[in-house]
Amino acid sequence: MPPPPAPAAGPIAAGGIAVVGAGIAGLSCARALHAAGRTVTVFDKGRSVGGRACTRREEPDAGAVLPFDHGAQYFTVKDERFARVVERWRDEGVVAPWTGRVAAVEGDTFAVKHTPGLMVGVPGMNALPRRLAEGLSVHSDRRVTALERTGAGWTLRFDEGPPAGPFEQVLVTAPAPQTAALLTGHAHFTPAVRRAEHQACWAALLAFDAAPALPFDGAFLNDDRLPDGSPNPLAWAARETSKPGRPPTPERWTLHAKADWSDAHADRPPAAVLPEMVAAFTALVRQATGETLPAPTFQTAHRWRFAHVKNAAPAEGAGECLYDSAAGLGAAGDWRLGGRIEGAFLSGLALAERAAP
Ligand SMILES: Cc1cc2nc3c(=O)[nH]c(=O)nc-3n(C[C@H](O)[C@H](O)[C@H](O)COP(=O)(O)OP(=O)(O)OC[C@H]3O[C@@H](n4cnc5c(N)ncnc54)[C@H](O)[C@@H]3O)c2cc1C
Repeated sequence: MPPPPAPAAGPIAAGGIAVVGAGIAGLSCARALHAAGRTVTVFDKGRSVGGRACTRREEPDAGAVLPFDHGAQYFTVKDERFARVVERWRDEGVVAPWTGRVAAVEGDTFAVKHTPGLMVGVPGMNALPRRLAEGLSVHSDRRVTALERTGAGWTLRFDEGPPAGPFEQVLVTAPAPQTAALLTGHAHFTPAVRRAEHQACWAALLAFDAAPALPFDGAFLNDDRLPDGSPNPLAWAARETSKPGRPPTPERWTLHAKADWSDAHADRPPAAVLPEMVAAFTALVRQATGETLPAPTFQTAHRWRFAHVKNAAPAEGAGECLYDSAAGLGAAGDWRLGGRIEGAFLSGLALAERAAP
């Protein structure tokens, strides 16, 4: 079953709870609040929902659409609460197991690993946030630049357009530095948010006319060095076409660079980074498998500034989220709980429980 369409933005109603960020954390939070009968309005600076759990559609030629999961590649499930939701999504066809051959590539060897339980959105990773956003009031293309406290509650200011509010509470679910920027001076827990750190990730998106005959569909590229002794920029490669529900042609691969390399090269232009990533993948594949990667027929690069969580926010006591009941402010996100989709979901859920007990 195709995922439901992204929600259309309607008029912004004042009152209730504002959620900043329509990634997995913000949407799981908003959905739980909505289910609890609260009025909730979600704002995101992006063009669509999902944040880092997303699917990018490249259209190099008229009529040709190349979808790539350029952020999160798959997700895993450990917690019972998340498992129940994922089971329902699975019944609905929103997610499915990814049974691709996932290998570890090291030096002149590769070993396909046993990786049960890898799940993906269908037909793309953005199926998860789209499903979570169903029925919610979500306003895309709204970058929140400031929170202002007035007698009546919280007003949100944007980079464009009129302010929104007043809201009784504001819950911020952006990556930690962006959350800290909005909450500074307002919430007692802001110093803890500021101590959480993210690392960047460069993604390269490639398409090929002929399928590279590689003996794996996903690969952890573990070596620190390339065969020529230079630093290996790459951490991961995935064959998009091996995931369920994706168009089978053309052959498409997503490469992710290592976090330290991405940080070091974060300010370079995509056109400078891309050839280095493609050359590294070609060299690693040739060394490990003897196969030669054909030249890509399409290639582009995307930089995630706040991709992976380096240091989670230290717990002020235990807690999957941060909440200041006196101020009516809260914060959640993957930076609270391990930097994965499941952690983001659970952090958002915990914040909803704090905001509407
Ligand atoms: C390259 C990459 C690979 C990954 N691989 C995996 C994987 O394989 N498995 C896995 O489980 N996880 C993976 N992750 C991590 C996973 O994507 C995240 O843990 C999860 O999606 C985070 O969700 P979130 O809601 O906490 O944050 P986000 O998804 O970052 O959502 C935050 C939202 O806030 C919005 N926002 C920020 N500032 C503002 C503002 N001022 N105003 C309005 N909106 C704002 C953003 O636009 C964004 O939509 C990967 C991430 C990346 C980048």
